[in-house]
Amino acid sequence: MTATTTKIANPRDTAQNVMALVNELNLQPTPQVYHVFYSYLTDEVPELTRLIKVLIRNTQDLDEETVFRIYHKYLGTHAMQQHLKQGVEGLQNAVERVELAVSSVMKDTDTFCDEIDVASQQLLADDISLQEARNVTRDLSAKSNKARDCFNSFGGNLEEYHKEVLRVRTELELVRRDALTDTLTGIANRKNFDTSLRDAVTTTMESGAPLSLLMIDIDHFKDFNDNFGHRAGDGVLKAVARVLVSSTKGADTVARYGGEEFAIILPDTEVENAAKLADKLRQNVSNQHIINKKTGKDFGKLTVSIGLTDYQLGENILEFVDRADKALYIAKQEGRNTCVRQ
Ligand code: GH3
Ligand code: MG
Ligand code: MG
Repeated sequence: MTATTTKIANPRDTAQNVMALVNELNLQPTPQVYHVFYSYLTDEVPELTRLIKVLIRNTQDLDEETVFRIYHKYLGTHAMQQHLKQGVEGLQNAVERVELAVSSVMKDTDTFCDEIDVASQQLLADDISLQEARNVTRDLSAKSNKARDCFNSFGGNLEEYHKEVLRVRTELELVRRDALTDTLTGIANRKNFDTSLRDAVTTTMESGAPLSLLMIDIDHFKDFNDNFGHRAGDGVLKAVARVLVSSTKGADTVARYGGEEFAIILPDTEVENAAKLADKLRQNVSNQHIINKKTGKDFGKLTVSIGLTDYQLGENILEFVDRADKALYIAKQEGRNTCVRQ
């Protein structure tokens, strides 16, 4: 094994070295694999570099699944922290520069006011000659031009700071979105679900509008992972998330509740309609053919069990979620690939 850690400045060289290394290690060049080895070669995250070094010495442990886990452990959060750090630094920078510019323009304004005072005193003097009055006025006019230039350049700087603040806002929006998104499937994560459910319950308590909740769990998913591998399992989680999102409306929150369990919050939805939707989702998942893109191998039928319920005015969120969970548990007991309402 010739792979070594080198700090390479040119991104194109780095990219070529990453591809060479990924080839050498016989790994699929997925975006995550690429990102991990890019990070390794640029020593972006020292812990990741150390770990990959050890694994490279022991290539039998270095498969895509391991790399995928390393990606989530070191780069998922690392990328988010970097965004946050850059955002905060950018904001501090912009604020400091605005403070400096404001204090400089205030100083210039003070000086200009003092100069106007002095000039007025001179012009009001009884014994001022015409020539002296001309000189004072000319001098004042030059100073006023200088002050205008200062204000204009301050205006230009403000525009620049405004752009900086907008850039920081975009950075922070990215961080916020990352913090609320499940990295594997791209749908809402558990934190997002908890917040959205709290909001939905509050709205329902205020308006009395119906609110339904679905808990969805993939059937026998452990067997699937055991038979086809964890990476194929991850592909299935993404496929199920896609089916759920494409079968629901914008106001609904489709979330990964944990592991192979999903939840959907359905605002303004009577439980009868939620039950119809649940059955449609169940069918849509079971109609999917999970096929390995590379080998063309059909993984066979995939099914989900669904528990559903609607919010009862006055109950707390825990009771609401527990009831949906209980319905899901019963669906499993009734043989799976079914929906149960509680
Ligand atoms: P049941 O029908 O009773 O739900 O059986 P099950 O096998 O689906 O449930 P169990 O709780 O026994 O196993 C859940 C499995 O889900 C085990 C775990 O390996 C898998 N899993 C959880 N999270 C992930 C993930 O992020 N990726 C992959 N590939 N598998 C996951
Ligand atoms: Mg399951
Ligand atoms: Mg489960």
